[in-house]
Amino acid sequence: MIAAAQQPDWDDPALLGRVVETLHTLPPLVRARECDRLAAAVARAGDGGGFVLQGGDCAERFRESGPSDVRAKLAQLYGLAATITATTGAPTAPLGRLAGQYGKPRSAPHEITADGTLVHSYRGDAVNSPTGTRSARRPDPERLLRAHRCARAVLRVVRESWPGRPPLDRAYVSHEALLLDYERPLVRDGYAASAHSVWIGERTRQPDGPHVAFARSVRNTVGVKLGPSTTPAQAAHLSRLLNPDARPGRLLFIVRLGSTRVRSLLPEIVDEVGRRGMPVVWLCDPMHGNTVRMGTGPKTRPMAAILEEVTAFVSVLRAHHRHPAGLHLEMTPDDVTECIATPAPCARAPRLPRYRTACDPRLNAAQAFEVVERFAGLL
Ligand code: PEP
Ligand code: MN
Repeated sequence: MIAAAQQPDWDDPALLGRVVETLHTLPPLVRARECDRLAAAVARAGDGGGFVLQGGDCAERFRESGPSDVRAKLAQLYGLAATITATTGAPTAPLGRLAGQYGKPRSAPHEITADGTLVHSYRGDAVNSPTGTRSARRPDPERLLRAHRCARAVLRVVRESWPGRPPLDRAYVSHEALLLDYERPLVRDGYAASAHSVWIGERTRQPDGPHVAFARSVRNTVGVKLGPSTTPAQAAHLSRLLNPDARPGRLLFIVRLGSTRVRSLLPEIVDEVGRRGMPVVWLCDPMHGNTVRMGTGPKTRPMAAILEEVTAFVSVLRAHHRHPAGLHLEMTPDDVTECIATPAPCARAPRLPRYRTACDPRLNAAQAFEVVERFAGLL
């Protein structure tokens, strides 16, 4: 098997060993029956009888795992899921990027700070701190234990929020299964006990890689991000690897091709998965294929491109007689300015006065509502 991509360069291997031992001994964060319940909701969405709304921060922060922050995130998630249900009449499973979204893949392992220091890139709170000093960026294995403690605290609030009975669906939690030193020791009874569902990112979905092997080894609903380099044959192959038994709520394909590529690339992917693949449930991530940097400004995402990708996704799936089963969004209830309304008319950096994300630009509450409204209105 090829080596795991995107793993931190932990600076104390002996300490890492002790941390992994400790993670092995901790109680599961989620229960198998909860994971199966999510899988049933995903299966219903796959059948065309419902939807999934997956969303939350690009990178969760440890310091935002307190009850008030988590309640605000849950209110946003439930509200958006309820919007889809109100428009379509079909149940919508709320699935947070929550209680574990603490590990980030990065395009470069290092970066140079404003004062010229070479530091490790920020890889999520489970690895290091976003503060741009050499010591803050040191990949610290102890942070894996803090990630587990924060996830447990977040999950307590998630469970308090669970509605007692249908038709409202419970919120579930998910994150990218990136940090194998965290995920592997948390497997319990054949399930990833770190979250109800985990996904494999665009940078770690090699069919012969350890992230796919990990996802194959657990029973949870798993997702895979599909970016523009995905060939139809690769997509079909991944569906067979990850869903060999053709379980209906097992596999989410989270499409993030970018607004300009969906109409040209997605039709063949959908066709080939239909012809030679196993059942998948199709979600649209309209965020990651539409990231741009304008001038010298920070990364942003134009709302026009996000909305266009949602529209194109629904239209392609419809044309191929597949159900557009939901959205995967990076969003926050906070009043941030990270995604922009329209592309700037020239190469000048746009003004983004409330830019607070630790990683990728998120939709604020009004923007997330607009994207969900667009999606629901097309159905
Ligand atoms: C993400 O979801 O934050 C992410 C890194 O996505 P992708 O793997 O699709 O680039
Ligand atoms: Mn992201």
